[in-house]
Amino acid sequence: MDPAARQALQAAAGAENFSEASTDRLLYAYDATTSWHRPEAVIRAAGTSQISAVLAACTALRVPLVPRGAGSGLSGGAVPMAGGVVLDMSGLNRIIKIDPADQVAVVQPGVVTARLQEAAAAQGLFYPPDPASVGFCTVGGNVAENAGGLRAVKYGVTRDYVLGLSAALADGRVFTTGGANFKDVVGYDLTRLLVGSEGTLAVITELTMRLLPQPEAKATVSALFLDLGQAARAVQAVLASGIIPTACEFMDGACLKAVESYVGLGLPPQAEAMLIVDVDGPPEVVRRQAQDLARILRDRGGQQVQVALEPAEAEALWRARRAVGPAVRTIAPSILNEDVVVPLGRLVTLMAAVHRIGAEHGLPIPTFGHAGDGNLHVNVMYDPSDPAQSQAAHRAVSEVFAVVLSLGGTLSGEHGVGLAKLGYVGARLDPVALELMRGLKRLFDPAGILNPHKAIPGPDILP
Ligand SMILES: Cc1cc2nc3c(=O)[nH]c(=O)nc-3n(C[C@H](O)[C@H](O)[C@H](O)COP(=O)(O)OP(=O)(O)OC[C@H]3O[C@@H](n4cnc5c(N)ncnc54)[C@H](O)[C@@H]3O)c2cc1C
Repeated sequence: MDPAARQALQAAAGAENFSEASTDRLLYAYDATTSWHRPEAVIRAAGTSQISAVLAACTALRVPLVPRGAGSGLSGGAVPMAGGVVLDMSGLNRIIKIDPADQVAVVQPGVVTARLQEAAAAQGLFYPPDPASVGFCTVGGNVAENAGGLRAVKYGVTRDYVLGLSAALADGRVFTTGGANFKDVVGYDLTRLLVGSEGTLAVITELTMRLLPQPEAKATVSALFLDLGQAARAVQAVLASGIIPTACEFMDGACLKAVESYVGLGLPPQAEAMLIVDVDGPPEVVRRQAQDLARILRDRGGQQVQVALEPAEAEALWRARRAVGPAVRTIAPSILNEDVVVPLGRLVTLMAAVHRIGAEHGLPIPTFGHAGDGNLHVNVMYDPSDPAQSQAAHRAVSEVFAVVLSLGGTLSGEHGVGLAKLGYVGARLDPVALELMRGLKRLFDPAGILNPHKAIPGPDILP
């Protein structure tokens, strides 16, 4: 790093929070994608005034800054592609308060999501957003990506729980928006604007999150299908039944085979799909709904239908779903993991198209995800050392995206654009809407130092 920049950033961050060590530069080069780029320095966030001073220095010096939570992102959001500084927010991990009277939690952004769930549960309250990475991702990262997860069918996504926040702008000014009110229509909704902004507009320094009462009981129902179309239609039957499941998760045959060889659960090789459906509520309602769901799944061709009313039994049914992420990565050396969404009625068409595209390119495309939200994780598996496979994999992704857009869908439901989908954003967004977004970026970050080359394409606003 340039000596003058080093001196200014050390002064702003505190020398003990500033590192140019090669191990740090390597560790903070990654998120959970295969993209990587070393930052010039890593700064550990120590508090709002320090963050504000660091941002002001970065703007003055024109040094890019990338906020980072746990680095579990799946779109390259925390990868410092333009070098500069990674600002590690994970040390700001205090739960400031759980307030049962207001039904809110006030937290620092580096709190691991599972810790917030546990702290809420200890007071009989419930923080519903439940990304599969809940044990290690941070609430700040969830808000910056508008993370979804397993319970979104009934409870919505992270956005639905953010009532207020404090944040630091690129020039160092700190502002607060929203608060502990469940309703608030005074002024433009800057709180919502920052949700999903992928660290490109401001650094979030504190959050007020809504909590709900804990549901009394839960149940899980699972079923295997010999036909993919049957499973897709079963999802539609579940969602049309009048029961609102907490989760409605899907895995195709390729996922099940990968899970079977990874953890060995005794899944039959001929199974082409699995559905796992959760319900929660008062015990008597849950019991009845679980039986109704089992009947619906059986009527739609489901086999080995199982109902779990006890947490340990439910966990056993969830084992396949929990293993699927790492399991599919054993299929091939590399993965292009996409996160597409279509309107619910078009899920069957999407599933069929993904399988056709995989067959045409001779590539495995194991697909799983949050079928109840129309949100599928489409994983194109390939060997990057084989140029023909690499090309085919990228073509397959483009074709999947084309199908998704033709079905009125969108290119990311919860992982964000990051850098992985930057090249496709123009195909999804209205050009006028994109211009407005570029204008917002200029307003919040005129020097373009905050997480450059992410979320929206805009060469005109990058340093
Ligand atoms: C095994 C696995 C399972 C997953 N399952 C799900 C799932 O079910 N649903 C889902 O939605 N996602 C899932 N993810 C993706 C990932 O966990 C989420 O995107 C999560 O929200 C990222 O949080 P993080 O703390 O790791 O953020 P990071 O990866 O560190 O950062 C993500 C983005 O947020 C920005 N950011 C972080 N902190 C701040 C801050 N304080 N202020 C401003 N910007 C900030 C970063 O700049 C970056 O752009 C999964 C990932 C893995 C590895």
